[in-house]
Amino acid sequence: ISLEETLLDAIRTIPDYPKPGIKFRDITTLLGNARAFRRAVDELVHPYAGTKIDKIAGIEARGFILGGAIAHQLSAGFIPIRKKGKLPHETVRVAYSLEYGIDEMEMHRDAVAPGEKVMLVDDLIATGGTAEGATKLLRQMGADIVAACFVIDLPELGGRSKLETLDVPVRTLISYD
Ligand code: IMP
Repeated sequence: ISLEETLLDAIRTIPDYPKPGIKFRDITTLLGNARAFRRAVDELVHPYAGTKIDKIAGIEARGFILGGAIAHQLSAGFIPIRKKGKLPHETVRVAYSLEYGIDEMEMHRDAVAPGEKVMLVDDLIATGGTAEGATKLLRQMGADIVAACFVIDLPELGGRSKLETLDVPVRTLISYD
C-alpha cells in the first residue's frame, strides 16, 4: 500500500473543530499507529540522509513529536520553538499571524549558533504564518534553514508558496484540498 494511502488512512478528520466549518486534520491517530508513524518520519527524512543538518527546530506541540524522531534519525540536536512565556532562559520572540488575530512564539537565544544548518518541522502547513514566524526567529540568530518539513500541506491556504518566497525549501507528504 502506497505512502499516501498509509498516511491518509492513519490521519483522522474532525469536522467543525475547533470551530464550525473547519475540518481539523488530527495526526494523533497517525502517531498511535506504529507503521504509519515510522513511515511518515522515514519519508520526511530520506532526502536529507547524508546531508549535514545540525539541528531540528520543532514547533510546539506536534512539531516536537515529529521533530524529536527526525532529530534522532539524522543525529541532529533539537530546538523547541514555543508559545510565549514557556521557555526558562533568555529568548527571542516574534509575533505571527493566526487565522484570527496574532500570537507570539519564542526560542532560546542560545539555541542556535550562526551558520548552523537547521530543519524546521511541524505536522501541518496551512497559511504558513506559524512557519514564517519560526523562520524569522531562526534567521535572526543566524541559522541556515535547509528545509521545512510537514506531514500535511493545505495548498489552497498558500503556506508552501509563502515559505518558498522566503527561500525555504519545503517538503510535505500529503495534501488536502
Ligand atoms: P498556519 O500558521 O496557518 O500555517 O497553521 C499551521 C499551524 O496550525 C501548525 O502549527 C498546525 O499544527 C496548526 N494547524 C492548523 N490547522 C490544523 C489542522 O487541521 N490539524 C492540525 N494542526 C493544524
